[in-house]
Amino acid sequence: MAVYLDYNASAPINSEVLEEMIHVYKYNYGNADSRTHDFGEQARTVTENARHQLADLLGVKADEVFFTSGSTESNNIAILGLREYAEKTNKKHIITTAMEHHSVLNTVNYLEKNGFTADYVKPCKDGRVNAEELLSLVREDTLLVSVMHVSNETGMVQPVKEIGKELEKRNVLFHVDATQSCGKLVEEIKALKYDMLSLSAHKFQGPQGIGALILRRKKYKLPPVKNIMFGGQQEHGLRPGTTPVALVAGLGKASEIALHNYKENHSHSADIKRVLIDELNSSGVHFKFNGDQNYCSVNTVNLQFEGVSSEALMISTKQFCGVSNGSACTSKDYSPSYVLKAMGLTDDEAYNSVRISWGPDTDLESVRSNFHELLQVVKSFQ
Ligand code: PMP
Repeated sequence: MAVYLDYNASAPINSEVLEEMIHVYKYNYGNADSRTHDFGEQARTVTENARHQLADLLGVKADEVFFTSGSTESNNIAILGLREYAEKTNKKHIITTAMEHHSVLNTVNYLEKNGFTADYVKPCKDGRVNAEELLSLVREDTLLVSVMHVSNETGMVQPVKEIGKELEKRNVLFHVDATQSCGKLVEEIKALKYDMLSLSAHKFQGPQGIGALILRRKKYKLPPVKNIMFGGQQEHGLRPGTTPVALVAGLGKASEIALHNYKENHSHSADIKRVLIDELNSSGVHFKFNGDQNYCSVNTVNLQFEGVSSEALMISTKQFCGVSNGSACTSKDYSPSYVLKAMGLTDDEAYNSVRISWGPDTDLESVRSNFHELLQVVKSFQ
């Protein structure tokens, strides 16, 4: 059976999370905003418990957590939601990076068509943006800096710690897309300085379709973000619509589990990475890592196999491993990865690249044997 190595696209749900959700679907089916009966009260207890579980994972206060449908929505609110404030203060310059997820890039593009200006900092060959270069672009009218914590494509950890520390001294809002780091780089996130942070539960063993936007208070005041959808008063009006109680409970449970297990998960992922690298080194195939592995997260590797198209490889090795050649959100697009291109790779190098990502429940021995088989195919192509 093929081993699933595409956790950065979506991780399988944890069985305890699923059990918790089934319980909520069965017994806590009320609307969390109903005030006239106990069913509403019970649903509200479930959502507020989950809010605390996620707040504990991130080291924030529960009233700084706003549930959304996931990182795409959180990123949209974090950026588009500043529009009114930007108009009022005439701060309409945004700095981001060329390797962000499309939920950031397309949102910033949209604002550019509507009177804003933006800078897109390219990552260096090592897969990271240079913090000094990025900070040198800050101007009087800079409204927002938005940088991902960990790249979904390369696994490279970005210098958000340095950027956040510096931006705190200047009057510039900082948004971190922590979709790939939430539940994994637990201590790093707790120590970060930021105003807004986005996450999706399905990247750390929670359910798909739920996430959060974290808004940090400064002197009791939340960042000046407004709702971009109109409706009821759920999530203080920032994200109207009936709260999906079971999904929220799943996010809460996944947060609790991640907080409890992150050290163990980290060392399991590091073991798997070691096995993959050992197999690569002993296989005799010609390969090159994309990005400086000293800064790569333990659950991802992105590499090129010389002269082997990733499309051909993935089709020929489907029975061994489920890997990918970039973000699932752009997988219908056969052009080379914009992230790898921004790092300076040629079209051929990008076309020959695959992303392999794994997680807490990935079986080490299956990885060893199935990846070994995949490498035999690579060898036959070279
Ligand atoms: N940002 C990053 C870095 C991601 O990896 C993803 C998911 N691939 C998203 C945002 C969007 O997350 P979702 O599809 O859960 O909304």
